[in-house]
Amino acid sequence: MGKYYFSYSEYLKKFFPFKVYKIALDAGFTCPNRDGTAGHGGCIYCENRSFSPNSKGEKKSVRAQIEYGIDFYRKNFKAERFIVYFQAYTNTYGPVSLLRELYDEALSFPDVVGLSIGTRPDCLPDDVLDLLAHYSQKTHLWVEIGLQSIHNETLIKMNRGHTYEQFADAVVRTKLRGLRVCTHVILGLPGETHDMMMQTADALGSFDIDGLKIHHLYVAEKTILEKMYRAGQVPVLTVEEYIKLVCDFLERITPDMAMQRLTGELKGEFLVAPKWGVSKRVVISLIEKELARRGSFQGKLYINIKNQISQEALAKVF
Ligand code: SF4
Repeated sequence: MGKYYFSYSEYLKKFFPFKVYKIALDAGFTCPNRDGTAGHGGCIYCENRSFSPNSKGEKKSVRAQIEYGIDFYRKNFKAERFIVYFQAYTNTYGPVSLLRELYDEALSFPDVVGLSIGTRPDCLPDDVLDLLAHYSQKTHLWVEIGLQSIHNETLIKMNRGHTYEQFADAVVRTKLRGLRVCTHVILGLPGETHDMMMQTADALGSFDIDGLKIHHLYVAEKTILEKMYRAGQVPVLTVEEYIKLVCDFLERITPDMAMQRLTGELKGEFLVAPKWGVSKRVVISLIEKELARRGSFQGKLYINIKNQISQEALAKVF
């Protein structure tokens, strides 16, 4: 682990002796929480164009998006290899034959060394997981499963269209196949107390989750959340509040969970609130400063819930 937390780039260095960058795609999927299968209207904060660069403007083919991404990261960051990130919407929401076609297309590029598949807990049936397990034999594969909070009352308010129990079931079945899991959490969701957010941190440690993406709640244009925010129903975090919260969260998760994101970055054209006026880089350096001030680091307060449970169970037996 680095000085304060275990970064994704450190994690990748364990597997690759060269610079690896993630290319985010919009492969043309939709989401069961938008088309009526799990829900209507989507999560109240969902505006994929705001967080998925390839969901804006004219639709390009998967091949064209990968070619563009490779060229961009080579020119600007001297990238050598690439992980193709199926990012926009729900990238396992389709027949296995279509998924196979898309994943094969991505892996047909010689410098693509991995896949990261963004999805929802209710879109990982066993046949899809078996397919992903097959790909994990030949490439560096991640399954990114959105959660946001372990509290069902929050998931209902967010109109997530799935429960914490569905998340737990999906993660257990994914891990049983030996796949890497990255999960997504939002801090500052409406109605969530500090204790509730820390309970989410503690619960993640019980699943052997490999990676985490974390960010604050932000309000994007043309979302249901925007209407609620403008009606004064949704408070947003200040940067100082977020720094404290994210450090509290980091202290409680496992030390070996690779941090794939420590703060969100919504492009100005979509952002309604909060407007912190500082870059992602500055927020990360403030997080590091706060951990340094505390003499703290990722996992410092990690409680092994699984061990605790088994100790309690053992105490009952003996
Ligand atoms: S699960 Fe993802 S894509 Fe679907 S509505 Fe929610 S945020 Fe949008």
